[in-house]
Amino acid sequence: MIKVENIVKQFNKLKAVDGVSLEIKKGEIVCLIGPSGSGKSTVLRCINGLEKPESGQIYIQDELLDEKNKESYKNLRSLMGFVFQHFNLFPNMTVLENLTLAPIQVMNKSKEEAQEIACKYLERVGLLDKKDEYPNKLSGGQKQRVAIARSLCMNPQIMLFDEPTSALDPEMVIEVLEVMQELANEGMTMVVVTHEMGFARTVADRVIFLEDGKIVEENNAEEFFKHP
Ligand code: ADP
Ligand code: ADP
Repeated sequence: MIKVENIVKQFNKLKAVDGVSLEIKKGEIVCLIGPSGSGKSTVLRCINGLEKPESGQIYIQDELLDEKNKESYKNLRSLMGFVFQHFNLFPNMTVLENLTLAPIQVMNKSKEEAQEIACKYLERVGLLDKKDEYPNKLSGGQKQRVAIARSLCMNPQIMLFDEPTSALDPEMVIEVLEVMQELANEGMTMVVVTHEMGFARTVADRVIFLEDGKIVEENNAEEFFKHP
């Protein structure tokens, strides 16, 4: 589903990602872990085209992710949903408007159709009753669940999560992890940058540990957490 071949991403002199290769199969849940600044987020952002690596290749469903091939690039990027640490909801739009914006503008859905899809996903994350609220009326955990629902409205084949619970109060972490666990159970392909070791241990098929922009360990979750 995703193949990353020897990517390097530099910011000025700093090699944030220094020769990372990885492969993720359909339906696999992979957690990227490692110290702050080790390049986890940058790897994820390269996968969905938010950052452009200086060298190396990324394939999505066996097709090269290449900015120059505009149509293919757009299609491949549309296969991937991205959930940010800081939600990135539009504050001046209601929950429902946040969810229907892209389906209407990008997927050319009618307003009614977009709302129907949005309500379906809001229900799934347990927030249908908040559809007419503005984001600032929601808790952090609710905002993140809205952000996940918004991504799902675009019918992604792959979900990328960048520290989705790091900005949340502890009591709200669990409600977001539960939604992610459900997605995993349903067979979604997921790449998750996280500090939640409990989630990595119980939900991930594979854990990849980065340090200084390099993969230093990669194993199934059971093996990974066996040793200290
Ligand atoms: P992690 O997700 O593991 O915390 P990041 O991928 O966010 O690590 O960052 C890796 C390194 O690259 C860090 O040193 C970070 O400061 C740097 N970095 C990330 N994004 C940028 C950017 N846009 N400009 C400059 N430096 C960046
Ligand atoms: P989110 O939490 O929403 O995923 P981040 O806070 O990780 O977003 O990063 C937000 C932006 O800041 C990204 O575009 C990232 O590349 C950039 N960034 C991260 N570290 C640095 C840095 N050291 N210098 C400049 N920009 C950075």
